[in-house]
Order: sequence, then C-alpha cells, then structure tokens
Amino acid sequence: MTKFFSNLTIKTKLVLAYTTIFGILIGSFAVVTYRSIGDSRMARLDAELDSHAGKLLMEIDEDMGDQEDIEDDWLSGLTTEDLNDAHLQLLTVTGAAIVKDSLLQTAIADWPSKYSFKSAQHVNLKLGTGDYRVLWQPVEIDGTVLYVLELAMPMQDMLDDMEQLRLLFWILVPAILLITGMAAYGITQASFRPIVNMTNASRNISVHNLNERLDLPKTQDEVRLLGETLNGLLERLDSSFRSQRQFVADASHEIRTPLAVMRVELEHALGNTSDSLVRADIQSALTEIDRLSKMAGQLLLLARLDSASQSNERESVRIDELLAECVRRLKAFAESKNISLELYIEEAIEYLGDSEKLKSVFDNIIENAIKYCPSESSVQVSLARVRDEHKFQVTISDNGPGIPEDEQQKVFGRFYRATSQRGEGNGSGLGLAIAMRVIELHGGALTIESHDGKGSTFTISLSEDSTA
Ligand code: ADP
Repeated sequence: MTKFFSNLTIKTKLVLAYTTIFGILIGSFAVVTYRSIGDSRMARLDAELDSHAGKLLMEIDEDMGDQEDIEDDWLSGLTTEDLNDAHLQLLTVTGAAIVKDSLLQTAIADWPSKYSFKSAQHVNLKLGTGDYRVLWQPVEIDGTVLYVLELAMPMQDMLDDMEQLRLLFWILVPAILLITGMAAYGITQASFRPIVNMTNASRNISVHNLNERLDLPKTQDEVRLLGETLNGLLERLDSSFRSQRQFVADASHEIRTPLAVMRVELEHALGNTSDSLVRADIQSALTEIDRLSKMAGQLLLLARLDSASQSNERESVRIDELLAECVRRLKAFAESKNISLELYIEEAIEYLGDSEKLKSVFDNIIENAIKYCPSESSVQVSLARVRDEHKFQVTISDNGPGIPEDEQQKVFGRFYRATSQRGEGNGSGLGLAIAMRVIELHGGALTIESHDGKGSTFTISLSEDSTA
C-alpha cells in the first residue's frame, strides 16, 4: 500500500487528497442534513399528535367538570375529525377498548407490556401495510390513570419525502465528488504545467547547449523561484564549462608551437647524423611529436566543436565526391596492408554541410577500418539514399576484429580505445568523439553495429531537411 502511494505522482496524490477530504465533508454534510430533516419532520408529526391528544384531554377534562363520573358512553363519542388519516383508540388500562379502531387493534397484543402508563410515549409501529407514528397518552381521572388514548398518524408521506431526499443525496454526492475530482485535476494540471515545461526543457539541456535557459512562468510563486534557481545553476555550469573549454583550447594551441619547433630541430639533427641508432631514436621521437601534434589539433577542434551549438559553416557539398576523395587518399594506405577498399555510390547526393569537417569524419572512420583490420581483409564504403525520408546514409563496413558489445558506445567517448587496441601506438581515442560531435552538429546520427571478431559497420545518417 505504502509502495503504491509512493509510486503515485504528486498530481495524482493531490487530486486524491482533495477528493477524499471533500468527499468526507460532503458525505458528513449529507448525513447530518438527512438526519436533522428526518428529526424535524418526526417532531412535527409528534407535535400534531400531542396537540390533538391535548384537545381530546381538554374535552375529557371539561366533561369531568360537568358531571360526577365520566361515562364510557360519552367517551366512545370521541373522534379525530379534524385530523386527516388519523386513527384513535381509547382503552382502559387493562386493554379493553372503549373507542375501537380496527387498525390499532392489530397492535394491541404487545402494547401493555411496552407501556408504563406513567407518561405520554411516541412509538413507530407497523400497522397493516403502513408505518404509523403512534402516541400513547395516559388519561388521568382524579390522579389515577384509568384510560389510555392511542392516536396514530401515517408516516408514509414523511417516509416518501425522506426516501426522495436520500435518493437525491445518492445522486448529488457522487456527482459533486466527480466534479470536484475533475476540477482538482484541472487545477493541479494547470499548477504543474510550468514545472512539466521546465522538466522537459531541462531534459533537452546538455553540455552542448548550456547557454539555453528555462522559460519562467509570469507568476511570482515558488515555481518561478525554482526556475530562477535552475537558471542560476545553468549559468554557473555554463561559465565553468566555458572556462574549462577555453583552458583546453589555449593549452592545445600553446603546445603546438613548441612541438613545431622541436620537429624542426629534430629534422635538422636527423640530417646531421649518420649513426643508425641515433637516427632511429630521432625517427621515433618525430613519430611521437606527430602524434602529440595531431592530438593537440584534435583537442583544439573538440573544444571548438563543444562550444558550437550548430554547424555554421555550411556550403553545398557533393557527398559522393567527398567520399571518393577520401577513398582515393587512403587507397595507398589500404594497399600497403593488402586490404581491398571499395566504394559504392548509389547516386550523387548534394548536401548543405561543413565539407572540411565531414571529410575529416569520413577520413577518420575509413582510416580506422583500414588501421584496425588485419591484412587481406576488405573495407566497403557506400552511399545510399533512404527512400522517401529525405535522408541518406554513409556506411563504412569492415571484416576486421570488431568491437565487443560492452565497448561499442564507449568508443565514442573521449580518449577511449577498445581494450584490444590499447597499448598499440598511433591512436589518440579522440577521432570517433570528434566524428560524433560533427554529425550531431549536422543534426544527424552516427551508429555502430559490430560483432566481436566479425567486423564493424559505422553508419552516418544525415537528413537533407535538417537545419540543425
Ligand atoms: P583512435 O585514434 O584510437 O583510432 P578513435 O576514436 O578513432 O581513436 O577510435 C576509438 C577506438 O575505437 C579505437 O581505439 C579502436 O579501439 C576502436 N575502433 C574504431 N574503429 C574500429 C574498427 N573499424 N574496428 C575495430 N575497432 C575500432
């Protein structure tokens, strides 16, 4: 039960709470109203009976004043003429009827046992097929109770009215509850709308669009305060990410100059020595300098790509020509490893994009395929349009070592190199991170399908409609 409640949304909890509280209140109100109307109708009936009994007692009293003893004959003349539908019976204390009523006679059997003959008493009795309110009124003569006046009036009208009232409450209370529930839902929905909007907007904010801010409601309430607090948090995060990116960009930029100087000096030293051991050392240092320079360049590029929210250097690019150029450039590398590099172009595709960056993405993925495949394997590059969707896909497949499933998403992370390639020189682990970011900035997707030991397929999907 507790688990059920803790799983409910605040909106549902509020609606349930409002409806329950209102239900208890309206239910109690209905019960109290019903009871008090019933009591007052009953009191009115009793008052009518009492007043008529009073009149009859007065008649008896007056008659007592006129004569010594009261005659049973006179008593049998008492009637209920001015009381509609009423029944009258006059009995002696032993139960012998002086004024007899056929309906009241049906209840005569048990009345003396219930009746104390001390004071007037009102009871509900079922007489015949109807319900009656009955007054048992002792008639005292000279301080002794000699007779009992039994007056009955039908309760049917009152019971019918009460039944109608009950029916009305049974219809009204659930209807009011339903309306309250719906109103409570509407009110909570409207009150939570700004929070839902802010949640959705926050979900779309990532490290790449920290400059975006949440729309604040016009009200001056807690929700606005929450929005202002979140916007303040975003502001601080944005500024700290910006300075971190700036630091990376500055550092990688600064590193490139000394590396270039070192390269020149090492090349000079290489030209001045014929010692094969020294030459080998210098060559290896030059390779490392190249790797470091490439890494510094990639870091600088990543820092710039991170601060961009979209690719803004767009021009019309022939994707088929771009791919052909990459394949031409990498052909020699593939041949050096005896790898067949094939290009399949289904149709020429013109796309509005950043040609330099797209080329570097294709280059990196094709180069990776050649780099990580053993010799004698094959790499296929293909370009095809996705029918009816204004989209096209570039796929680069190889039958190389593949990437284990648990590492397939990690390879797009920064500095990540699959376990099997770690320790092997020549890689930085930044190429796919850059590729992913470039494709994201073009509003496209870069996905991987790979089977350990059987090869990998990288798919770049780009939409011709995308303006991102
Ligand atoms: P690197 O400079 O190491 O190539 P990338 O970011 O381009 O960096 O690639 C990240 C890692 O993904 C690589 O180190 C490699 O382990 C793995 N990888 C990328 N392409 C392939 C591929 N075609 N076959 C197998 N592994 C690959």
